[in-house]
Amino acid sequence: MENAGNSDRPNHHWRRLLPLLSLFLLLGLTNSSSLPQEDPSSTITRFQEYLQINTAQPNPDYKKSTDFIVSQAKSISLESQTHEFVEGKPVVLLKWPGSDPSLPSILLNSHTDVVPSEHSKWNHHPFSAHIDGQGNIYARGSQDMKCVGLQYLEAIRKLKSSGFEPKRSVYLSFVPDEEIGGHTGAEKLAESDVFKNMNVGVVLDEGLASPTENYRLFFGERSPWWLVIKATGAPGHGAKLYDNSALENLFKSIESIRRFRASQFDLIKAGLKAEGEVISVNMAFLKAGTPSPTGFVMNLQPSEAAAGFDIRVPPSADPQSLEKRIAEEWAPASRNMTFELGQFKQKVSVYDDSGRPLLTAPDSSNPWWALLEEAIRKAGGKIGKPEIFPASTDARYFRLLGLPAIGFSPMVNTPILLHDHNEFLNQAEYLKGIDIYESIIKAYASYIPQGRANVSKDEL
Ligand SMILES: [Zn+2]
Repeated sequence: MENAGNSDRPNHHWRRLLPLLSLFLLLGLTNSSSLPQEDPSSTITRFQEYLQINTAQPNPDYKKSTDFIVSQAKSISLESQTHEFVEGKPVVLLKWPGSDPSLPSILLNSHTDVVPSEHSKWNHHPFSAHIDGQGNIYARGSQDMKCVGLQYLEAIRKLKSSGFEPKRSVYLSFVPDEEIGGHTGAEKLAESDVFKNMNVGVVLDEGLASPTENYRLFFGERSPWWLVIKATGAPGHGAKLYDNSALENLFKSIESIRRFRASQFDLIKAGLKAEGEVISVNMAFLKAGTPSPTGFVMNLQPSEAAAGFDIRVPPSADPQSLEKRIAEEWAPASRNMTFELGQFKQKVSVYDDSGRPLLTAPDSSNPWWALLEEAIRKAGGKIGKPEIFPASTDARYFRLLGLPAIGFSPMVNTPILLHDHNEFLNQAEYLKGIDIYESIIKAYASYIPQGRANVSKDEL
């Protein structure tokens, strides 16, 4: 519940910070610049403005979000283009040109859509961007991932105002429809000639909030396999015990699938594997029964039954052995079972277009990884162990092309609330994230590999 007595507390908070802020402003001014230094309160106001645009699926207001992003780009003199690879699904591309166009560029990707929310279960309306007494900004998209999209822009605003000039071009892509699979957004962008001409060398995309003090970096993600298994069997009277009914056949499979699920979950519980490293299986639906006007016929064993599962396969898993398990144990023809992978969604491969596992090397063999870690540490951040993202993001469309893509959302000491009620991000955490990106963009846009004349594009 909202406490009316708290409504003026954010102001008090800012009042306490004012002397400190004036000091920063003074330091900033002595540091030169073409643009005036920013007051953090206007930075927060811009974030609130973006959060207040209702871009929830299934009817995101992309007109408004596009206008907002383009106006922000104009205010810091970035080039902007809007591409509708699919009508009504704008991909907004911003460019900060580098001084050496022969160097591959940096792409900072974010999605503009958010998942729906049940307004009545929120303490503050999900599009109000209300700031509470602790400085927490409540809004759908505050973590996933309007924060990141705008932090990129704010970091560039600061870099420009400090007089920094990038050697590599920096692109920002604001893509639609990630929350419904990205097929009309990032996937189309990655496949386009526009993208080829951008000569992208590395992509940053979303990660997850961290409840600890360590930032989380993601080097791959699990591939969704949406599995539907169907069982058939002889129909019969509800009173008769007999083998091979559809539901008995289906339940044998469900038992086997649940044993597998438990074995994977045990690895997490025992601390042997992280969430992104196991194959997760969760039942999405169970369908059976013969409908009657009042519900279901009760004295009849149906001849068909089906169940649907959301399976997530890490790039380290062996997809052939999982397919074998599905065919032999979960949906064996010998038990009158059939299965269809991809009834709802394609079975996403765990390999890229060249047949390599869909991974970005999380070590010093990948200069972008090393640069990122160094830049985060330079800005005062700590980093946890590299992780596999447990769900899907648009990063996979770029990894499919063989490009390094790293998932990162700079939020520490923050509960993971994406897709949850009362999603929030603390304003101090948001501002700190801008500093982190400032450090990253500076490092990336300045990076010249040693002996660059002799290296292939892969290594750039
Ligand atoms: Zn997201």
